[in-house]
Amino acid sequence: MLHPLFTEEHEQLRRSVRQFVESELAPHAQEWEREGGFPDWVFKRMGDLGFMGVRFPEEYGGQGGDWGHSIVIAEEMARCGSGGVGMAIAVQSEMATPPIFKFGTEAQKQRFLLPAIKGEKIVCLGITEPNAGSDVAGIETTARPDGDGGWVINGRKIFITNGVRADFCVLVTRNDKEAGHHGFSLFLVDTDTPGFEVSRKLDKLGMRSSDTAELVLDDVRVPSEQLLGEQGHGFVEIMWELQGERVIGAAGSIAGGWLVFEKTLAYAKERHAFGRPIGRFQVNRHKFATMATELEAARQLLYDTALAWERGEYPVKQISMVKLYSGLVVNRVMNECLQLWGGMGYATETGIERAWRDSRLLRIGGGTDEIMREIISKTMGL
Ligand SMILES: Cc1cc2nc3c(=O)[nH]c(=O)nc-3n(C[C@H](O)[C@H](O)[C@H](O)COP(=O)(O)OP(=O)(O)OC[C@H]3O[C@@H](n4cnc5c(N)ncnc54)[C@H](O)[C@@H]3O)c2cc1C
Repeated sequence: MLHPLFTEEHEQLRRSVRQFVESELAPHAQEWEREGGFPDWVFKRMGDLGFMGVRFPEEYGGQGGDWGHSIVIAEEMARCGSGGVGMAIAVQSEMATPPIFKFGTEAQKQRFLLPAIKGEKIVCLGITEPNAGSDVAGIETTARPDGDGGWVINGRKIFITNGVRADFCVLVTRNDKEAGHHGFSLFLVDTDTPGFEVSRKLDKLGMRSSDTAELVLDDVRVPSEQLLGEQGHGFVEIMWELQGERVIGAAGSIAGGWLVFEKTLAYAKERHAFGRPIGRFQVNRHKFATMATELEAARQLLYDTALAWERGEYPVKQISMVKLYSGLVVNRVMNECLQLWGGMGYATETGIERAWRDSRLLRIGGGTDEIMREIISKTMGL
């Protein structure tokens, strides 16, 4: 039975995305993992197919869809066999661009949102800094008026997905140190602006096909038309962005967990030890029962949360619960499954170790487990 988040139309989209992912992306996954990157054409191809901005209105090149459509894309991208691809695409279509649509001027939508949805421009999202990750209010990148109506930006950003090759960045800055949470502003910064530099590409445990950059901004001059949203409201605006980021990150990750679960279940029915399939040992049957229960609980919580958002709520507590719970569950599932594969789980060729490595990020990126617990516990008056 379909969850009420989905209709037959969503399932049609699912079939098209699956067909695309399995025929055009999956065959390259191992090569992209090895090389530590995937080519730019993937953005353009997905833009051409209408998969880059499903929740945006048609006038901006989107499909006029809803959260159900976005979740379908994230779930099907998990079939690619390389988590970094789905993550990089999600950064573009579900993390960096929604603030442009929600807070941007018409001119900004035409100049930045449209080409991103078409996959013609690559975008990154610059929040985290070497000295401030969880504590977003601790960022040190400054934006000060240049005296001519524009701004001068100085600072550093780190762990920026798509940052090595992005055409522009949705950047979080501090424009007034004295104003507390009201002293932040977002900017749309072209990466070819003088003073904007990729200082290094970071190597990392998983999500290896996505690029991760450290950025340096040294007296980067940005005209006033590139201030995104309201001056001084950047903190609230980026907190809003993070809610969608957490939903979509959880969606891709839970789907990845299910794929590994199913592959492992099939293996446990075939692999024999001590005269029987390993899945027949009671200890392992119970492991599968627990994993399926927890994955299903994570999935249903995700769908219910997305539906609540779709119906007009802003369910921050529930989103934090989805992010926290799915990160924990998917990590447990990946670990149990790797164990069930024995040595083949550790070997690269089965893809299990790659999924295990990729899945670790959900407990860190977009807000750690601990930060999710902070948000949830604050709603309890603690
Ligand atoms: C592969 C990858 C891609 C990423 N992509 C992006 C991107 O595109 N854009 C972007 O802006 N960022 C990105 N990030 C950054 C990511 O969101 C941060 O790493 C994350 O928010 C944690 O920040 P931090 O690394 O500075 O850890 P820290 O904030 O230094 O935290 C270190 C530890 O302290 C704990 N801690 C912190 N505060 C508390 C507290 N109050 N109570 C208890 N424990 C606490 C944390 O939970 C964590 O365990 C990415 C990260 C990675 C690894």
